Amino acid sequence: MEKMQFKAESQRLLDLMINSIYTHREIFLREIISNASDAMDKLAYIALTDDKVGMSRDDLAITITRDEKNRTITVSDNGIGMNRAEMEENLGTIAKSGSLGFKQAMEKTEDIDIIGQFGVGFYSAFMVASSVTVISKKYGEDTAWKWVSDGADGYTIEETTKSAPGTDIIMTLKEDTEDDKFSEFLQEYRIRELVRKYSDYIRYPIRMEISKSRKKEDSDDYESYMEEDTLNSMVPLWQRAKKDVSEEEYAAFYREKFFDFEKPLRTIHTSAEGSVTFKALLYIPGKAPYDFWSKDFKRGLQLYSSGVMIMESCEDLLPEHFRFVRGIVDSQDLSLNISREMLQHDRQLTIIARNIEKKIKSELTSMLENDRENYEKFYAAFGRQLKYGTVADYGAHKDATKELLLFHSNQAGKLISLKEYTDAMAEGQEKIYYVAGENKDRLSKLPQVQTLKSKGYDVLLFTEDVDGFIPNTLMTYAEKQFCNAATEDLGLQSEEEKKELENKAEELKGFLTFVKETLGEQVKEVRLSSDLGSHPAAMVPESGMSFEMEKYMKRMEPEFAYNVGRILELNPEHDAVKAMQNAMTADPVKAKDYAQLLCCQAQLMAELPLEDPAAYTELVCKLMV
Ligand code: ADP
Repeated sequence: MEKMQFKAESQRLLDLMINSIYTHREIFLREIISNASDAMDKLAYIALTDDKVGMSRDDLAITITRDEKNRTITVSDNGIGMNRAEMEENLGTIAKSGSLGFKQAMEKTEDIDIIGQFGVGFYSAFMVASSVTVISKKYGEDTAWKWVSDGADGYTIEETTKSAPGTDIIMTLKEDTEDDKFSEFLQEYRIRELVRKYSDYIRYPIRMEISKSRKKEDSDDYESYMEEDTLNSMVPLWQRAKKDVSEEEYAAFYREKFFDFEKPLRTIHTSAEGSVTFKALLYIPGKAPYDFWSKDFKRGLQLYSSGVMIMESCEDLLPEHFRFVRGIVDSQDLSLNISREMLQHDRQLTIIARNIEKKIKSELTSMLENDRENYEKFYAAFGRQLKYGTVADYGAHKDATKELLLFHSNQAGKLISLKEYTDAMAEGQEKIYYVAGENKDRLSKLPQVQTLKSKGYDVLLFTEDVDGFIPNTLMTYAEKQFCNAATEDLGLQSEEEKKELENKAEELKGFLTFVKETLGEQVKEVRLSSDLGSHPAAMVPESGMSFEMEKYMKRMEPEFAYNVGRILELNPEHDAVKAMQNAMTADPVKAKDYAQLLCCQAQLMAELPLEDPAAYTELVCKLMV
């Protein structure tokens, strides 16, 4: 018979499996059982929607058989089964889900220790078995097939006989060596222990012949006999009472189900009764999965109806702004053969979704208030998602997210919420000040920020693209308006002071015109400002625009990029500005150089590149000599 080879990527995974270290081997049973359970789910689903199947969930079971003499352990199921093509497709290549996540993680690290935390799938059988035989008959077909492989050099498939549909996975255990024992997996107690540990919540009975003893009739002696026993409790984790589930169990379930090798930051186990009944088990991860920011990422929760999975990821249960949440919802109120389109309009589902959104929000809020360290870990991974969620759909969801946002505080030197900002506002402070740029250290040195600091006013330092859209979306927070300190009037002057500045501008009209003419097209306008503190000048964008937008466009869509109009603001009280003013009559050439110099400096302070750095350097040298 012809030997077929495994696909290349599968071969690498296989090699890892075959050589994996001792402590991880035991998970093979979990993987094989979980495949059996999936296969029965598939059949149960067909049975629900098609009367012809003539069976019910209660007929489905997994059986484990041990054969110590032949060193085999067999896991049998009466699920959907596989035909020849499916065997080739599924057992000859790494399947899509679990194994793939593992493979991707392996590409980033060579640390084999992560094996046990992944759903590595069928191949894990080769951690303990020198040879694996799969006998399977697909439901609804007549022919059964036998797949055999010793892992290393390919596999064979041939026709065989099998009465009922389903699959037997027969694993011949490797020989024991001096310091490597495999026979433990033939032991009754060990198998029982592994099923309890990893597969207790599997919703089909996992049965095995167990040796028992009883008292002989008419005698005080005991005799032993074999009897089939169910090894698992079959209650899914989310159906169990909260108090009966340990933190480890929650975490282990999460890792296995969602292919993460870290613990979740929070677990939300909740249920509701009343207008709609459901149970949900939700997790807040500590880091984003590798594809989270790509369009391939599918948001959603697994949806079960009375213990049967009806949808792998139900989008309608999870709002976009909380798409990082992973989990399961089980509700008996949903009809099983409901279609995706109908589901969208299902009233029950809408109620569940609203309820879940509230739960997530309150969990995150409690984390923010009581467990700041973990919240910041969460925020580092998903804060950007919360911000996108806030500005998406013209702010339709802002009430769910705005309290959860954090920004860098100039004053506190750490992340703070908007509430913390407004609660700490100084006496007399009317606005929520922010500035946007790439680097928070540079932002905090902006003249306007320094001016505010000297008054005891905090400034939020925005460093992510999306931050700049948040003030426009929220408009106000706690009835305070947002103010871009770099571009808008800080509102620090009294009416008299404003009047004074206007008079001053009138008085210096000739000077301002001189500077504007000197700078030509470089700036749209030159004006005075009293917000600059100890700085002589600042470059601000014309109203309604921001330099961040300009940079963003240049980066993302260069063909639409444009230059935002620049306005040079001068501090009339600053000695450098006064010096320029004096030079205007005494030494106009020098005054022009000064104007150019201040313009360049203001440009640099605003994190804008210089058009002609060489000319700037020359100018500085010229003025020094
Ligand atoms: P995964 O379960 O993550 O998809 P596996 O490598 O464990 O990856 O399994 C590959 C595929 O083989 C499964 O997706 C399934 O289609 C098929 N398979 C494995 N075991 C069985 C089984 N007992 N009955 C039916 N199909 C199975």
